Amino acid sequence: MKTDVAIIGAGPAGLYLAQMLHNAGINSVLLEAKSEDYVIDRVRAGVMEQGAVDTLKEIGVGEGVEKDGLVHDGIIWRFDGQDHYIDVQKLTGGRSVIVYGQQSVVRDLINARRKYSDIHFSTPVTKIEDTHGKPKVHFELDGKPVVLECDFVAGCDGFHGISRQTIPEAEQKIFEHVYPYSWLGVLAEAKPSSHVVIYSHHENGFALSSMRSEEISRLYIQVNNDDSADNWSDDALWDELELRLGNGVKDFKINRGPILQKGITPMRSYVCETMRYGNIFLAGDAAHIVPPTGAKGLNLAVGDVRVLSAGLKEYYAEGKTEWLDKYAETCLDRIWKVERFSWWTTTMFHPAPDASDFDVKMQLASLNYLANSEIGAASFAENYVGLPYAV
Ligand SMILES: Cc1cc2nc3c(=O)[nH]c(=O)nc-3n(C[C@H](O)[C@H](O)[C@H](O)COP(=O)(O)OP(=O)(O)OC[C@H]3O[C@@H](n4cnc5c(N)ncnc54)[C@H](O)[C@@H]3O)c2cc1C
Repeated sequence: MKTDVAIIGAGPAGLYLAQMLHNAGINSVLLEAKSEDYVIDRVRAGVMEQGAVDTLKEIGVGEGVEKDGLVHDGIIWRFDGQDHYIDVQKLTGGRSVIVYGQQSVVRDLINARRKYSDIHFSTPVTKIEDTHGKPKVHFELDGKPVVLECDFVAGCDGFHGISRQTIPEAEQKIFEHVYPYSWLGVLAEAKPSSHVVIYSHHENGFALSSMRSEEISRLYIQVNNDDSADNWSDDALWDELELRLGNGVKDFKINRGPILQKGITPMRSYVCETMRYGNIFLAGDAAHIVPPTGAKGLNLAVGDVRVLSAGLKEYYAEGKTEWLDKYAETCLDRIWKVERFSWWTTTMFHPAPDASDFDVKMQLASLNYLANSEIGAASFAENYVGLPYAV
C-alpha cells in the first residue's frame, strides 16, 4: 500500500489534518487503533477556541458547530462568596469560545471522510521504519500485517501513541510537570445550572460547571491523585459539586440528574520539543499535554496541524521544504505560550494538598486582582479565546 502522507490517529489532530490534505489534493491514509464507535463515544473536550471553529468551517465541516455550537461570551469566576463575570467578548474586541463537544467534532470530521475509504479503524500501527527516507508504517488490518509506504508520517496518535516512541529517547527533548491533584469529571443528563461556564475556587478544591448542550451538564471537581471515581456515590458527588460550585453565593442550586459517565483525569504539563524526527512529524497530544483548566488541548492540536498542512501543501505544490523545516520551531512558539496559560490558570484555581494559608491567600489575591483589573482580565480573555495562529 502506498500514499503521500500516513496519518496515525483519528483524534482531532489526525482528522483535521486528513480533511485539510484532502482539500489540497494530497493523498493520505489515516490509521486508527480503536473502533469507530469507540472514537466517537470518547468523552473529552468541549470548549473550542474561535480559531478552531473557524478552521472547521474553512475546511468545509462547519455545519454541525454552526447549528449546535453554544457561543459563550464570558466566564464566571466564583471565589470569596462572590461572582466575577469576565466579559471575554468585550475584553477581546468581539471574540468568544464555543461549546461543542469533541465527540461532535470527531463525528463531523469522520462523516466528511467516510465516502473516501482513506480512513481505517481498528488498525493499530505497530512499527514505523525508515524514518529518514521513505517511511514504512506497519499496521494490522483484520489481524493481518500490512505495510504502508509514504513520504511523510503525521504522528497524531496522542500521548500514548507509537510515533513519539519511535524517536530514540536520547533524541527527545522533554519538559514535564505533574500536578499534585486530578479532576473527577462527570457527564450528567441534567440541565446546566448556569448557561455560563463557572470556575470556582473553594477551600475543598476547584470545581467547574460546564455543559455539552442545553440538556447535558459537564462538571468537574479537584480530587487527590490517589482518589478513584468509585469512592464517590452519585449523591456524594452532587453534594460536593453543589457545595464547591455554590461557594457561598446565595440561592445557587445545582440541577441534578442521572450521571452518564464519571472518570478521573490526571493533570500534567508536557512538551516534547522534538516534534520532527526525519520524516515523522508529531502533532497534538503526541507532542504536548496541558492540564484541562483553560480548555486548550484540542485547540493546540488544531494550531499544529494548520502549520503541518501548510508545510505539506508547500512541498507538494512547489517542492519546497521551508515550512516543514521550521515546523517544530513555529509550533513551539505558540505551544509554550499556551502551556504557560494552562499552568497559570491551573495553579491559580487549585489549592494543592499541601498548600499553606499563605499560598491560598496568594491564589485569591491573584484572582481578585485579575477579575477587577481590565488589563488583568483582558490578558486572561486573550488567551482563553485563543492566541493567533502562525499560519
Ligand atoms: C477530561 C478532559 C477534558 C478536556 N477538555 C478540553 C477542552 O475543553 N478543550 C480542549 O481544547 N481540550 C480539552 N481536552 C484535551 C483534548 O481532549 C485533547 O488534547 C485532544 O483529544 C488531543 O487530540 P489529538 O488528536 O492530539 O489526540 P487524541 O484525541 O488522543 O487522539 C489520538 C488517537 O490516536 C490513536 N492511536 C494511538 N496509538 C495508535 C496506534 N499505535 N495506531 C493507530 N492509532 C493510534 C488513539 O486511539 C486516538 O484515537 C480535554 C481532555 C480531557 C481528558
